Amino acid sequence: MDTLQDAMATHETLDPPDWADVQALSHRVIDDAVGYLRDVRDRPVWREMPPEVRTFFDAPMPRAPASLPDVYGEVTDNLMAYPMGNIHPRFWSWYMGSSNFTGALGDFLAAIQGSNLGGGNHAAGLMDSQVVNWCKEMVGFPAAASGTLVSGGSMANIIGLTVARNAKAGVDVRERGVGAIPRPLRFYASDQVHSCHRKAMEALGLGNRALRRIPTDTGLRIDVDALKAAIAEDRDASFKPACVIGTAGTVNTGAVDDLQALAALAEAEDLWFHVDGCIGALIAVAPQNAALVAGIEQAHSIALDPHKWLHAPFEAGCALVRDASAHRNSFAVTPEYLESTPRGLASGQWLNDYGLQTTRGFRALKIWMALKEHGIEKFGRLIDQNIAQARHLARLIEDEPVLELTAATTVNIVCFRHRLDGAPEDRLKAFNTEIMLRLQEEGIAVLSDTTVRGRHCLRVAITNHRTRREDLDLLVRETLRLGQEIKSGMEYA
Ligand SMILES: *Cc1c(COP(=O)(O)O)cnc(C)c1O
Repeated sequence: MDTLQDAMATHETLDPPDWADVQALSHRVIDDAVGYLRDVRDRPVWREMPPEVRTFFDAPMPRAPASLPDVYGEVTDNLMAYPMGNIHPRFWSWYMGSSNFTGALGDFLAAIQGSNLGGGNHAAGLMDSQVVNWCKEMVGFPAAASGTLVSGGSMANIIGLTVARNAKAGVDVRERGVGAIPRPLRFYASDQVHSCHRKAMEALGLGNRALRRIPTDTGLRIDVDALKAAIAEDRDASFKPACVIGTAGTVNTGAVDDLQALAALAEAEDLWFHVDGCIGALIAVAPQNAALVAGIEQAHSIALDPHKWLHAPFEAGCALVRDASAHRNSFAVTPEYLESTPRGLASGQWLNDYGLQTTRGFRALKIWMALKEHGIEKFGRLIDQNIAQARHLARLIEDEPVLELTAATTVNIVCFRHRLDGAPEDRLKAFNTEIMLRLQEEGIAVLSDTTVRGRHCLRVAITNHRTRREDLDLLVRETLRLGQEIKSGMEYA
């Protein structure tokens, strides 16, 4: 044998040559991580990366090894120092949770334990099912319902809409495809529906136009009479009304559709009732506000998002389906290499029968540990706290003559803008965008913007267990200061 073959015959592994070194470094990583979260309030929410950090990420693929402490040093300097910022108490952009340390430990332990949640007879599988059961309980779903943990709300909605399509198609759509559906299906949602539903309709082969956007009332909730009229019109035109999507908390303004009315209408019209509860499903556990989402328990399927108001580290979404067999019948396939055995590891449930993934990550542990540590009642109080904070901010804005609310605040989203007397819409937009960008660039707060009924506005979505009222007071003060500063500058005067 030549030397190359000799070398190949010796064993290589990714395990460290000396576990004691790894242990020492890991202690440091944990110490740094604790400090990182403990001191998050003292750092800017966000900051621009300097050019050397950008070029760091242009480095070619590593071929030779590096020491783990050196690798970790690069991560600390180039990555940890420039986060998105959503773990910060003054991050209120788009819509996302702010994570938590216990959840991060859960993610770490899940990776260490390493199980594949595609299925099988092992403890992680039982924990995955337990967390799904807890999610059912949170929204008042029956124990016999089924569900699955997925990457996030978008995937959870796709799961729900897939089951809806298959249940209402009138043909075996899995076998024959959408082309065999006798009457084209129609889905309905308000004009405030999240963009993931469009992607879902496209991916399901139904097409974007099969999702009718129904106008909304003054509170930006679906207009149920307009929905009824649309359904009747579609029946007359030989379409098959199949599914109504109710939104419990729209992404623009947090409006909550009348879920009870939608449940009754779906029943009367024989439609599937899906609830996009990515924002609001969990309000069901918040004692002061649970009534806002009454009716959610009547849905046929629900998408909810533990990485929003349960603050699970990304990614964690959950799809729930009342009719467990309809759920399984939409996805289950048993290839010869995934057959069950009467005993042993392959005797457990194949959890991948409930979604599109084969290999599934161990998402349950990060949710499970934080729920055990704090209990669901605390999460409910944190949701109430965020909603109360949003109402506080709305009051502050109402009290400031130069600021105005641009939509009603139902839950935890506040839409507002700085006035600019007599300015046309495009100038108002440029002015408010400039305020938003300076808030970010000065590391004060991160908001996002949107357009509600043709009016551009700034948007504060408080899904954040670290936010305090004083943070919102500061936001208003700084918005006023920046408004003054920008007005006195040339280009926006
Ligand atoms: C966040 C959100 C989604 C998408 O969920 P992801 O977890 O981002 O995939 C869908 N619908 C609504 C109403 C949302 O707020």
